Amino acid sequence: MGRNSRYRSWARPPAPGPQGAVRLHWRDEQLPEGGGPFLAYGNGRSYGDSCLNSGGTLVDLRGLDRFISFDAETGVLRCEAGVLLSDILGRFVPEGWFLPVTPGTQQVTVGGAIANDVHGKNHHWAGSFGHHVRRFELLRSDGSRLLCSPRENADWFGATIGGLGLTGVILWAEIALKRIEGPAMEVESLRFSRVEEFLELSRASHNAYEYTVAWIDSLTPGPGGARGLFFRGNHAAGHHAAAPSRRKPGLPVTPPVSLLPRAAVGLFNTAVYRWPRRRHAVAHYEPFFYPLDAVPNWNRLFGRKGFYQYQCVIPQDQAGAAIGEIIARVARAQEGSFLSVLKVFGNRKPPGWLSFSRPGTTLAFDFPDRGRSTLALLDTLDEITDEAGGAVYPAKDARMKARIFERGYPALHRFERYRDPAFMSDFWRRVTSGDTQQGAANA
Ligand SMILES: Cc1cc2nc3c(=O)[nH]c(=O)nc-3n(C[C@H](O)[C@H](O)[C@H](O)COP(=O)(O)OP(=O)(O)OC[C@H]3O[C@@H](n4cnc5c(N)ncnc54)[C@H](O)[C@@H]3O)c2cc1C
Repeated sequence: MGRNSRYRSWARPPAPGPQGAVRLHWRDEQLPEGGGPFLAYGNGRSYGDSCLNSGGTLVDLRGLDRFISFDAETGVLRCEAGVLLSDILGRFVPEGWFLPVTPGTQQVTVGGAIANDVHGKNHHWAGSFGHHVRRFELLRSDGSRLLCSPRENADWFGATIGGLGLTGVILWAEIALKRIEGPAMEVESLRFSRVEEFLELSRASHNAYEYTVAWIDSLTPGPGGARGLFFRGNHAAGHHAAAPSRRKPGLPVTPPVSLLPRAAVGLFNTAVYRWPRRRHAVAHYEPFFYPLDAVPNWNRLFGRKGFYQYQCVIPQDQAGAAIGEIIARVARAQEGSFLSVLKVFGNRKPPGWLSFSRPGTTLAFDFPDRGRSTLALLDTLDEITDEAGGAVYPAKDARMKARIFERGYPALHRFERYRDPAFMSDFWRRVTSGDTQQGAANA
């Protein structure tokens, strides 16, 4: 086992305390004795501290990266938990299969996708990743192994999906892929200028479009309060899709300060808003689902201090007012969010006890870390979210207070009984009470 500070999250500088790391290579391996508290680590694409474990041991799962079996009749794939979503797409898209749900990067492991119960642009049709998980094997620190599905060890299944890696290590999982006719997507983009207009476009697109998402200009939201672009699309039949262009070189080093000054962000936002009012295109799935993957290490643009992503979900009856208020506060604060994304979630019951995605509208921003002013703005956004009965996404968070987490995730006390006593994360230390921390200390 080695000490290693290279394990970090996507948006933050390395964790303050050193953390040891152990890599699993075989599914029959055990966790080392006495090395805890442990935490599974996928590919570090969580933005905040939910994948970090200062002073403890990260269990690196990227050594478990093999496909185990595939049923070409049903599309059910069994693979090890360290397999990347990009590995699955690379192997199965040519055979006419696609991920049932995918987040905005394909550089995510299957274990990480389950532990955060990630969502994609098709939540209104397909729910979240956990809805498509048939079964997995969970390794606990006492050496026990549990087969979990909606029928076997169903409590462990519900606790582990969205369970932030705290119930043990997922060794392998079965997920149901979906049929597609090819790699092409038919995509339409439409401009809007008010939150209500966005909500109306979402309603109008619900039945006919599998994928919907919107971008908003959060620096200069315009007289209507939220100008932006609404994207909707479907997998295309019989269309030729141009192969994606080669990946552009990323930033080799992290600059000392953010390269995203407010003026540049403003110019970017205005340029995009000048796109035509309505545009149709046929595109390869990669630029449609993963535009940010085209620039490796884009996170370094924010400089050595890193950045915060803020993502919340607001119940639908409060969405118009609360989302409008959040956008107005962000614009007024001029903290310079580069990427602001809006999406309506569907009504499926979340599969995990701590799943983030639930019926409502979700909104995400990236803010360069400017210290106190950024933290004060994020606290304000928490209050608006909380008053509207919403929740903040742990996979993106590095600073929410325990009260906000507890109110957004009322199942957390039931969950605590299923947390492995030898598992802990920086996120969990921060958002739970002293009792929970004591549990980890005794582990
Ligand atoms: C550009 C970008 C776009 C994104 N877009 C979206 C999006 O659209 N929707 C969305 O929901 N998320 C999105 N995310 C967040 C990302 O999908 C999640 O944070 C994802 O869970 C990261 O997976 P990972 O494999 O990198 O895991 P890590 O970040 O390393 O870990 C994530 C969590 O999973 C746990 N974990 C990892 N492997 C295992 C395992 N084998 N067993 C048990 N627990 C495990 C860890 O302990 C940790 O709690 C995005 C991230 C980026 C960088």
